[in-house]
Amino acid sequence: MHDAALHALQQVFGHAAFRGEQAAIVEHVTTGHDALVLMPTGGGKSLCYQIPAMLREGCGIVVSPLIALMQDQVEALRQLGVRAEYLNSTLDGETSARVERELLAGGLDLLYVAPERLLTPRFLSLLERSRIALFAIDEAHCVSQWGHDFRREYRELTLLHERWPDVPRIALTATADPPTQAEIAERLQLEDARRFVSSFDRPNIRYTVVQKDNGSAQLRDFLAAHRGEAGIVYCLSRRKVEKTAEALVGLGFDALPYHAGLDAQTRAENQRRFLREEGVVIVATIAFGMGIDKPDVRFVAHLDLPKSIEGYYQETGRAGRDGEPAEAWLCQGLGDVVLLKQMIDNSEAGEERKRLERRKLDALIGYCETMRCRRQVLLANFGEEYAAKGAGQPCGNCDNCLSPAETWDATVAAQKALSCVYRSGQRFGVAHLVDILRGADSERLRQFGHDRLSTFGVGAELDARTWRGVFRQLVAAGLLDVDTEGYGGLRLTDASRAVLRGEQTVMLRKELPRRKQRERSRSA
Ligand code: ADP
Ligand code: ZN
Repeated sequence: MHDAALHALQQVFGHAAFRGEQAAIVEHVTTGHDALVLMPTGGGKSLCYQIPAMLREGCGIVVSPLIALMQDQVEALRQLGVRAEYLNSTLDGETSARVERELLAGGLDLLYVAPERLLTPRFLSLLERSRIALFAIDEAHCVSQWGHDFRREYRELTLLHERWPDVPRIALTATADPPTQAEIAERLQLEDARRFVSSFDRPNIRYTVVQKDNGSAQLRDFLAAHRGEAGIVYCLSRRKVEKTAEALVGLGFDALPYHAGLDAQTRAENQRRFLREEGVVIVATIAFGMGIDKPDVRFVAHLDLPKSIEGYYQETGRAGRDGEPAEAWLCQGLGDVVLLKQMIDNSEAGEERKRLERRKLDALIGYCETMRCRRQVLLANFGEEYAAKGAGQPCGNCDNCLSPAETWDATVAAQKALSCVYRSGQRFGVAHLVDILRGADSERLRQFGHDRLSTFGVGAELDARTWRGVFRQLVAAGLLDVDTEGYGGLRLTDASRAVLRGEQTVMLRKELPRRKQRERSRSA
């Protein structure tokens, strides 16, 4: 069997050798066994079901949630001479009928189908009358309610196993924190399937986090080193996507917006240009990107804080699939943290779900503030210990490795900050608190009588950005909390007391001014 697989890899796909676990997975599925494949984006998941589908008798049925991407994948396969088709709501009746006839006649190697289509009685009866090589369930994390793109129909895919117990199934995902892994296995009845877990490390991607000061200016600085390259810039809101795309066009970038508020045709066209043309920068909400296969994306920039490490890792994983150097750049500030915390707390979700989302956000904040090797922190989140350079060794290809952060003893500053929060009533935001500490001449302060607080002006020795950094890091360290019921003011936590009583020292990272950040990332 191995010869046939290698032959297909070389002759059909034009690759010299299998990568990582691919050979083992192909062998396992081709010989009729179930598999659960966890591989990072760009790792080469598609071949793991495409080759077995070609080697086994019958047609491989690929369940994929993204209609927009089926067409691209099928086209690419056809160009390689593979008999591939897709069925989804975009096809007219005549074309669907032709595809169905080909399936029945045994004329297909691979058929891509959206889950809602697959589950229709009509399609199931069609399958009853066809020869099926395997079922591939792509983006399998969609079955997880805790994941970031839950699809209800995925839950019903267990019926494939019930109706066709002898047909091998292969579920694939790039999202693999251990709880999601377990949930996929359970929900898809794949507990007995062999698991293939690849390293999630993407050594060619360089990770950098900068503290938000003036986001659009910082993005401009970052992009200066990436002119003419293809990349993705993620923003949290549609409005910001539009504004940022416009600003980049003004700076001479070939930038296009992408978000769910644009009409389908514009979205498809922008995505098409990004995929087919060179040097296009797509500015997008997270609506963009699942399943995008463009090998030469040189950077993924986040102008706002994402919601979880898993989401972040998947988004940045779209960079550098060709193995050439690529950058993942994240610009974050306390404002993002406040906003996301408010979004979680004020959402309709149940308490358990909110707790989980808070935990995920906290893990991400921890990643942003860490002074350790970022790759170690990222991989640890997936239960993987980074050991490519030897156990415990840092990666040498992230900002913290390339120019280690400097720390300072911020115990006194932290005491001032916390006592300022306390004395002003635990309901004000950072800008106001910094004004009090720096003794600003402000009508607003006088209105609240805050110019008469004992903490008024006690922090004049530090500049405003240093103070903002102090507050942000105190929140990240759990020494302050965001009041999400009011206007996002800061309040003390149980942990604050020890600092206020002078029982705990606080070491913080030195915040670099923008010019220095620029130099840091350049030398990096
Ligand atoms: P994933 O679905 O895991 O994100 P893909 O299947 O889209 O990854 O593969 C990512 C890229 O790697 C594609 O451009 C693909 O052609 C390439 N690729 C996959 N396997 C191999 C291999 N064995 N050798 C060389 N290139 C490969
Ligand atoms: Zn590192």
